[in-house]
Amino acid sequence: MADGEEPEKKRRRIEELAEKMAVDSGHGDSTGDWDGRWNHVRKFLERSGPFTHPDFEPSTESLQFLLETCKILVIGAGGLGCELLKNLALSGFRNIHVVDMDTIDVSNLNRQFLFRAKDVGRPKADVAADFVNSRIPGCSVVPHFKKIQDFDETFYKQFHIIVCGLDSIVARRWMNGMLMSLLSFDDGVLDPSSIIPLIDGGTEGFKGNARVILPGMTACIDCTLELYPPQINFPMCTIASMPRLPEHCIEYVRILLWPKEEPFGDGTALDGDNPEHIQWVFHKAQERASEFSITGVTYRLTQGVVKRIIPAVASTNAVIAAACAMEVFKIASSAYIPLNNYLVFNDVDGLYTYTFEAERKENCPACSQIAQDLRFPPSAKLQEVLEYLTENASLQMKSPAITATLEGKNKTLYLQTVASIEQRTRPNLSKTLKELGLVDGQELAVADVTTPQTVLFKLRFTT
Ligand SMILES: [Zn+2]
Repeated sequence: MADGEEPEKKRRRIEELAEKMAVDSGHGDSTGDWDGRWNHVRKFLERSGPFTHPDFEPSTESLQFLLETCKILVIGAGGLGCELLKNLALSGFRNIHVVDMDTIDVSNLNRQFLFRAKDVGRPKADVAADFVNSRIPGCSVVPHFKKIQDFDETFYKQFHIIVCGLDSIVARRWMNGMLMSLLSFDDGVLDPSSIIPLIDGGTEGFKGNARVILPGMTACIDCTLELYPPQINFPMCTIASMPRLPEHCIEYVRILLWPKEEPFGDGTALDGDNPEHIQWVFHKAQERASEFSITGVTYRLTQGVVKRIIPAVASTNAVIAAACAMEVFKIASSAYIPLNNYLVFNDVDGLYTYTFEAERKENCPACSQIAQDLRFPPSAKLQEVLEYLTENASLQMKSPAITATLEGKNKTLYLQTVASIEQRTRPNLSKTLKELGLVDGQELAVADVTTPQTVLFKLRFTT
C-alpha cells in the first residue's frame, strides 16, 4: 500500500504509528486499564442484544468478574494454545494458567506465533506466558512445564473453565476423566457447583472441531469416541506381509525398512520434521504400495503416519481457537447461550461448517455411573478381553491393567506398564476366564492411561 510513498512521508507515518502504539500500551492505572480499553468487550456485556441469554441482565459486573476473578486453565501451548492465550488475554481474562510438557522446535515457528527462533529448545508454556504477560498489561499467565498427569484434583478444582488445545486423544480423555472425577452427587443428583466446563478444540490439517462439554450433563469425550479416527496401530503381520491400506505401506517403511537400510547413516533416527527423511519414506512406501496394488500413499499421509499426527495449518488453528475462546467468554459471562455442543469445520475443499448436538451415551465408560458389561464365554481367554478393551471403538484403551477381587483379595490379572508385573501376569493371558476363577457377574476393575479413574466392568458369561 505504501509503495511509491515518499521516504520522508513514510518515516513520519511510521513514527506516528509507533507513537500511537506507545500511548496505547503506556497509559492508565497499574493494571494498564486505560480509557476505553475494554470497550470492545463492554459492548457485549453492558447492553442487551438479539443473541443475549434470556436471563441476561446488562451490568458492569460481568467485566469485573472476567478481569478480576475468573480463572482459566489452558491445556497445551502449541498451535491452538498460542491462539487461545492471545484471544483470552485480549478478551479480558487475566488469571490464566497454561500447562504444556513440550519444548519449542524450529518447525513450530511458522504457526506458533508466540515463539521466536531464539526460543527454540525452551518450554512452550514458559515462553508463551512470558510473551503474553509482557505484551498485554495486567494479564497474568502462569506457566506449568509439566504433564497434565502431574497434577491432582486440587489443582484442577481451582479453575472456572478449562480449555484444551491438545493433539493427543489420550490426554484429552484423561482430562475428561479428571473432570468427571470432580463431580459430586447428592442422592444421585448432580451438584451443579461441582461442574467445571471443558471447552475442547481439535485440529488436523484443514479440519477442526470445537465443543462444549458440561461434565455430567452433556456428551463427553468418551461418549463420542467413535468419532475419532481409529488408532494408527497395525498388527505387525499385516505390515510385514499383508498390507491393505496405504498406511500399512508407510508403516512397513518406517518400522522395518528404515532400521534395515539406514538411508541417512548408522543409527540416524527417523525424524518426522525432516523433509528429506519423509521424502525417502514416501518413495519407498509408494514402491511397496504399487507392489500390492494399493493406492493413496501421499506425501502428506506419509508425514501424518510418521509423525503420528497431521499438524494443523495456521488458519485452522485460528478458526478453532477463536470458536473456543468465544465459548469461554459466553460461559464465563453467562451473557450468551453456549454452543450446543459440537462444531465441525472443514476447508479442505471450499468451506464447510456445521453444528450438532452430540448425545450422551447411556453407558459411557467415563461419564455414566453404570458399569459396562463384558460379554464372553467362560472359555474365552484373558487375551481376548484385553484385545476387546483396546480394539473396541467405544473403549480404545492403550495398555489396560485388569484387576479382580477373588476370594476377598484384590488380584492383578494383567498389567503391562511395569515390566516385572507384566512378566509375572503374562501367563494369565492364555488362561480362560474360568481357569482364572472368574465367575458370572464378576466385577473387573480396569486402569488405563486414558483415564485417571478406574473403570468398572461386569463380566457376563455367554454360552
Ligand atoms: Zn461420556
